[in-house]
Amino acid sequence: MANPIDTLQQFIDEAEHIAFFGGAGVSTESGLLDYRSDNGAYTKLERQKLDPRRVMSKRYLLNSPEKFFNQTNNKKKRIKSEPNAAHLYLAELESKPKDVRIITQNVDRLHQTAGSKLVVELHGNNRHFHCMECGREYKPKEIQRDELNIPRCPIDNGIIRADVVLFGENIKPEILERAKELIASSDLLIIAGTSLTVNPAKNLIHYFKGKRVVVINKTPLKIDFPIDLVIEDAVGETFKQLSI
Ligand SMILES: [Zn+2]
Repeated sequence: MANPIDTLQQFIDEAEHIAFFGGAGVSTESGLLDYRSDNGAYTKLERQKLDPRRVMSKRYLLNSPEKFFNQTNNKKKRIKSEPNAAHLYLAELESKPKDVRIITQNVDRLHQTAGSKLVVELHGNNRHFHCMECGREYKPKEIQRDELNIPRCPIDNGIIRADVVLFGENIKPEILERAKELIASSDLLIIAGTSLTVNPAKNLIHYFKGKRVVVINKTPLKIDFPIDLVIEDAVGETFKQLSI
């Protein structure tokens, strides 16, 4: 039987349009924690008896902004993260040039940092910010906080928040549409570093009509979907073994 890495290499070489559908596991090797891992944001909140669905929600942000912006996961020093072998490989493949489309559940912008040009961010990103009153956009270094540590717009005192999708908010319809189109028109779908347990992300892969599906994940996925190749390994480690 062929080595799984050789098979993946062959699939990539033969594909014309590659959709890479990634989750938290794509970023863990860049030093970012999976929300659900031992030290992940959700686990930390749960240890303090806080329900992530409540304290990472829009309602909580609006009703208790002081608490929202002073949670453990917001106070922690931002980890300096760099793209890993997976991000770098995909960006390099695109510059080959090859039609690589990234659909990500991550908010860290590591694909763009690596150089990928077509990235659909299902959950937005935590590097861009805007005022909830006037919509003015702010860069992280421009943000000023009031005495309660709440980021405020100097123009109208509105709360400044990251462009991420919080609990209680929906993925923007145009973002979902774009992800569907890209998946539907690809001939290779690589699902990586995601357990695919939440909708609508879980449903998106069903729009795939192409030739081959690959799953790269440390744990097997329970999905009702034909898969051609499963690699039970870390995503970065897997991509490290491929050649352009
Ligand atoms: Zn404003």
